[in-house]
Amino acid sequence: MVLSFEIYSRMCYVLPTFVRSWFGSLDGRFSTAVDRFTSRYVSSGYIAKELSNLQLETSSLEALGMNLRVKTSNQMKNVNAIYSLDDVIIELNITFPENAPLGKIATEHNRVTSIQQNCQAWTLQLVKLLNYNNGTLREGLTKWHKNLDRHFDDFSCMICFSLVLNYQGTKYLPQIQCKTCRKKYHSNCLNTWFKTSQKYECPLCRSAFM
Ligand SMILES: [Zn+2]
Ligand SMILES: [Zn+2]
Repeated sequence: MVLSFEIYSRMCYVLPTFVRSWFGSLDGRFSTAVDRFTSRYVSSGYIAKELSNLQLETSSLEALGMNLRVKTSNQMKNVNAIYSLDDVIIELNITFPENAPLGKIATEHNRVTSIQQNCQAWTLQLVKLLNYNNGTLREGLTKWHKNLDRHFDDFSCMICFSLVLNYQGTKYLPQIQCKTCRKKYHSNCLNTWFKTSQKYECPLCRSAFM
């Protein structure tokens, strides 16, 4: 009996996705017993291990980009990741359920402004990786971070290379898009460019702006 509990605990650590889907197939009473046993004897150790793995890797994770900060809390059973670029701040919370790894890991974005829809897609990707593909927190956060970097690379102004332009106390996103190459510009940056070059052309592809 003790041995099978030991094996079960090891399985939770090594193959959480497998254990989760096995748990999903159990009948009511047995399912309740497994849930109770896991919550009482396995979950806090499992969560602590996942979080400490992430903490060990956090320095290398943050080294991936200066714009990422990761905090973990054993007490709250969660991870808080903050991505910041210029004035844009995006916050991601990943919370383990009380009966981890049986229940699903929840993710939530805060402080998201203009990219709500993309964030939902990336959250889904993260949820899939963490809950169904035995993905580690580090893999999930690295992917999340890369998605944001790629997104903002595509959306930054191609003249000043920033996302947010502070002009006379107001913040602007690049909203003027070239119809040919699809690159975006702050209207201020583009006007300055038109004046300097004395041509109404896209700085990148040289096609005419109407
Ligand atoms: Zn600009
Ligand atoms: Zn263009």
